[in-house]
Amino acid sequence: MIEIIRPGDPAYRDLRDVYTATGAPASILRPSSADEVVQALDQVDGELSVRSGGHGISSIATNAGGTVIDLGRLDAVEPLGGDLVRAGPGARWGDVAATLRPRPCTPPRSR
Ligand SMILES: Cc1cc2nc3c(=O)[nH]c(=O)nc-3n(C[C@H](O)[C@H](O)[C@H](O)COP(=O)(O)OP(=O)(O)OC[C@H]3O[C@@H](n4cnc5c(N)ncnc54)[C@H](O)[C@@H]3O)c2cc1C
Repeated sequence: MIEIIRPGDPAYRDLRDVYTATGAPASILRPSSADEVVQALDQVDGELSVRSGGHGISSIATNAGGTVIDLGRLDAVEPLGGDLVRAGPGARWGDVAATLRPRPCTPPRSR
């Protein structure tokens, strides 16, 4: 089920901002599957921002008064064989590194 976070909800403060900007979206939609991303798109009201980790420098992964689709719950890291993994847009480097750890490689990263 899509989580819907609004101003005043406990999780709002942690999800409204991105690294380079303070956001004030009217709603934050948190889908947990590709199907729910499609459903979330039907619920967008006003300006749309897409947020994965919120670490981009463009500041456009949040907004004021619109909708943020936060992909943080799409965080699966799936081994594909060899040194390859498929990482969801919400995966953190720690999750990726833990999956890669048995292999002789490390992901390049800034954070
Ligand atoms: C201090 C600092 C150091 C950095 N160092 C590096 C570095 O060494 N190398 C490097 O390459 N980058 C670096 N960056 C840039 C940053 O890591 C990249 O912009 C990265 O893409 C951010 O990922 P994110 O998931 O946090 O994206 P977000 O901030 O959530 O989003 C960034 C942009 O992508 C869009 N977006 C997010 N998810 C999706 C999606 N699933 N599909 C389509 N669009 C999407 C957003 O709308 C937004 O426009 C650095 C940034 C900072 C702040």
